[in-house]
Amino acid sequence: MNIVFNFSLAVSLLASLVHSEEAEGRGLKSKKHNEAKEPKSKSKSIKKQKKTETKNENEPCMKVILTGTMGGPLIFNGLAGPGTLVTYGTEGNDCSDLKMQVDFGRGTTLRLSELGIVPNDIDAAFITHMHSDHTDDLSIFMQYRWHFFGQPIDVVCSEDVAVFDRTMSCTQLVANIDAAFKASGEISQRLAESGKRNPGGPSALGKISTFPVTEDPETVWESPDGAVQVEAIRVNHIGGSCAFRFNTPAGSVTISGMAANDSLDMETRPHSTSDNVEKIAIGSNLLVHSVAHPVLSPMGGSGFPPPLYARQSNAPDIGSLAERAGVPNVMLYHLIPALNNPVHSIWEVPGGPLNVKDYKESVLSGGYNGNVYVGGDLLTIKLPLK
Ligand SMILES: [Zn+2]
Ligand SMILES: [Zn+2]
Repeated sequence: MNIVFNFSLAVSLLASLVHSEEAEGRGLKSKKHNEAKEPKSKSKSIKKQKKTETKNENEPCMKVILTGTMGGPLIFNGLAGPGTLVTYGTEGNDCSDLKMQVDFGRGTTLRLSELGIVPNDIDAAFITHMHSDHTDDLSIFMQYRWHFFGQPIDVVCSEDVAVFDRTMSCTQLVANIDAAFKASGEISQRLAESGKRNPGGPSALGKISTFPVTEDPETVWESPDGAVQVEAIRVNHIGGSCAFRFNTPAGSVTISGMAANDSLDMETRPHSTSDNVEKIAIGSNLLVHSVAHPVLSPMGGSGFPPPLYARQSNAPDIGSLAERAGVPNVMLYHLIPALNNPVHSIWEVPGGPLNVKDYKESVLSGGYNGNVYVGGDLLTIKLPLK
């Protein structure tokens, strides 16, 4: 099993690298994670270099790191479930004053560990919507904090939304994140071992902070020093879904979540992307967007169910949106289908597996003139881009 896994991972990584230097999967030995290129200045004199370093140390910077890129609840090739880490700080501390995690797909905590980050290091958590592929690892994350005496953490997500006979509730997710372990007796057993742990269990460490989803960007969280503001806006996916935008002195990033057009009628809608994402993304330095490649379009005979395809944003439309919104960089995650996967769930990918170039060209075909980056777990963009 190991040999098969490693071989396929190697093939996928090679394929990515052949077609683009901008995408990189996890596990490459040359670097811990991929970073957008910066000019090298090794030939400078030591004196000059020192001066530059001193000057740069206080300059604000931020990093946007894909902690997982898998599209949906599928399991393939070791990819982690969707999530994005946003860090902010100065050049002097490698942009690490603040660490904010958006979504917690399967394996998020493992990807963070590859960056040398444990759950106790994260300053705030944000959740785009109540689907398990975006929240699987929240339980592991909160249990770690509880085991190892972490502080309570802001969990920022939308307030309860009633849809037909159900309620989509982030509050209930957080309140019950440890329910199985309370029911099994484990939480009580561990409390008996150490009185230092919060008696309320892991869920008690979640400081839930909910907001109503709105049609215009609203500020939903601010860092204690006010340097980072996070806005949210409603998007069409399931009840309570939202996109987030992080504004910092170093730049801004919009993260789409699972946004698609409000109309699911593929014949009549002008595009598959969300007009609200377009609104909140205007002027961002970077747009992180979930994507479906048009090769899976049911119109092309892929067999992919129309209702499932209709609630995704397709790659050319994401390019058009970014062009209209004046966003110079697009980073794709939550790829449907995953890179190098011949089959998405039960549907064969027409024409064979896709690579980085396929996704990149598809985004550019929407009339986009900016840069396209295709995740790749741990793909990293540092802002401001140099
Ligand atoms: Zn998803
Ligand atoms: Zn979803």
